[in-house]
Amino acid sequence: MAYDNDNIFAKILRGEIPCDKIYENDHALAFRDINPQADIHVLVIPKGAYTNMTDFAAQASDAEMAGFVRAVGETAKAVGVTDDGYRILANNGAHAKQEVPHLHIHIFGGQPLGRMIKPPEN
Ligand code: AMP
Repeated sequence: MAYDNDNIFAKILRGEIPCDKIYENDHALAFRDINPQADIHVLVIPKGAYTNMTDFAAQASDAEMAGFVRAVGETAKAVGVTDDGYRILANNGAHAKQEVPHLHIHIFGGQPLGRMIKPPEN
């Protein structure tokens, strides 16, 4: 799938729309999800134009990969979920119901999170 430069996270990266920033480094940005699904719900995105993890894993440089993974760890620390635990999740493509076609890792925490996967709704 070709990268869509008009997706909402591309606009956040260009500063065209605001975000509630938690952490940033040379290769990644983390901000609070606008519609939180847990007491703490943060998204970590690479600054490069990657649609999903498949794209990122195939195309990103080693420095981008290191910066992105480091950002996940630093963001979890910044929001205070490392002691009690947290969940990371990345939706990739249609079966996972990925809504925004720019790679993002969700970080959920701040409460017990239940089972890893719920049965599909339909
Ligand atoms: P996904 O289904 O994995 O693609 O998740 C996309 C996530 O992006 C959802 O949890 C949305 O609530 C979140 N989201 C959409 N627009 C924004 C925005 N402008 N700022 C922060 N989070 C957003």
